[in-house]
Amino acid sequence: MMMDKDKGVKKKSKSGHILIWLIFLEVVIVVAGIGYILLPKEDKELEALLDQDVSIDYIEETETEMGNPVPKPEVDEQFLTINEYSRPGDKTDGIKYIVIHYLANPKTTAQQNHDYFESLKDLQNMSMSANYVIGLEGEIIQCVPDDEIAYASNNENHESISIENCHKDDSGKFTEATYDSLVRLTAYLTEEYGLDRDQIIRHYDITGKECPKYYVEHEDKWEEFKDDVMNYREQCREEALAVIAAEKAKRESEVDLLAVYLESNARDETDSETENQ
Ligand SMILES: [Zn+2]
Repeated sequence: MMMDKDKGVKKKSKSGHILIWLIFLEVVIVVAGIGYILLPKEDKELEALLDQDVSIDYIEETETEMGNPVPKPEVDEQFLTINEYSRPGDKTDGIKYIVIHYLANPKTTAQQNHDYFESLKDLQNMSMSANYVIGLEGEIIQCVPDDEIAYASNNENHESISIENCHKDDSGKFTEATYDSLVRLTAYLTEEYGLDRDQIIRHYDITGKECPKYYVEHEDKWEEFKDDVMNYREQCREEALAVIAAEKAKRESEVDLLAVYLESNARDETDSETENQ
């Protein structure tokens, strides 16, 4: 009798243990399951990062992305018909200078001057054109592609880009809008072709012709123009560098976040391995 009683108690406590273990196991599975579901939701930014190929290149590639920091001003491309009087279609030998001109016919618009260049293919009485014409409202019309010869700067046509400017009166002074577009276009082109301050020249510097009149008569204004171009280039470069620095800082903080995550993940794995042993 005694033996049976003991046996019964023992049996009862054994099945009780199993039940507790089953409940415990179930709780562990449920908790782990909830944890698994909740974890990815915890940090969406991190999850997005985990899908990317994040490496040193990820940080460094921002530094080579700059290109031309000066934005290209709005240019209305109206290329002339190829003809021997205004657009011969010949390639330049590279770009060594940006040559500044004035149109010598006050109050005419950029469009009128473009159309005049175009009409020379029929008039056939003279050769004349420019790569760009800037109008009184600051509008820019491109007549000849950058890498093609235009007929504006005599001996330098084969290695330059010419910019003609409209003006209001006999002084030859540019309007504020014309001047502003000229600064932006010259800054863009000099950056694009890797040119320095002394590679911005006047028609006058090639042939001695009084062109652009106001900036031949006012040497100080010509120097001021070149300063304005260089200052604008510097301003654009600084702005572009600030954007790159912000992007780089953002990427670095993302990489830091990822490193912390990976480290804690590795620690968790080591811990669970230790527990299993
Ligand atoms: Zn000229």
